[in-house]
Amino acid sequence: MTLSEQERERYRRHLIIPELGVAGQEKLKAASALVVGAGGLGSPALYYLAGAGVGRLGVLDLDVVELSNLHRQPLHSTADIGGAKTMSAAAKLLALNPEIDVVEHRVCFAPENAAELIAGYDVVVDAVDNFAARYLLNDACVLGGKTLVEAGILRFTGIAMTIAGGETACYRCVFPQMPIDGVAPGGAEAGVFGPVPGVIGAVQAAEAIKVLVGFGRPLFDRLLTFDAAELTFTEVAVVRDAACPVCGERPTITGLEGWVAS
Ligand SMILES: [Zn+2]
Repeated sequence: MTLSEQERERYRRHLIIPELGVAGQEKLKAASALVVGAGGLGSPALYYLAGAGVGRLGVLDLDVVELSNLHRQPLHSTADIGGAKTMSAAAKLLALNPEIDVVEHRVCFAPENAAELIAGYDVVVDAVDNFAARYLLNDACVLGGKTLVEAGILRFTGIAMTIAGGETACYRCVFPQMPIDGVAPGGAEAGVFGPVPGVIGAVQAAEAIKVLVGFGRPLFDRLLTFDAAELTFTEVAVVRDAACPVCGERPTITGLEGWVAS
């Protein structure tokens, strides 16, 4: 996929980075990414992926924009309240970069459609806000051999790791069991400090671009933790667990048919 003169100008600051260059930018133009969730993490992740010229961007979200979203979801504006998030996201992303294609998936990410949805993209970004969807995404990407850029946020903290499905430690290798509802609070109960998803969503965009172009050292087998109150970034090495229920030696999750959150 060759770049037009317009595109060469648009991506000029990328083109002069040796790790990206014209070849890398052309790879991005030919590439696709699915961002599951167009909220706090999805806003910065999608913005930077669109700005970077990822040729086809999938935006998956079933929600409508609410007033209480806006302190941390800069993809949506006050005027968008009540409208579908995929719609305001697509409008903003195409306004930023009309050179790319944006595909709206206004659906619930579910066991019935998960495999087909992720199969249509080169890389998947987890920007969901609930554990059931997070574990489903992990399992679908491991089973589908897809790279997943995983992240989560709560109050002042955020985590991120990148998973080469079936090759590097997956989310269940690190957190085997899904927390029972009500035991682990979500953003709606515990709150979210607005800039946290901004930082972590930008990390996710960087990871997705690195994976698509093929440079640098992605967060494979590494769990990054960010604490905005202390302003620390810490990293721990994680390893594949032979007893992992989805990527271990004797997996109990071998398909998504009849998948239940656990
Ligand atoms: Zn695993």
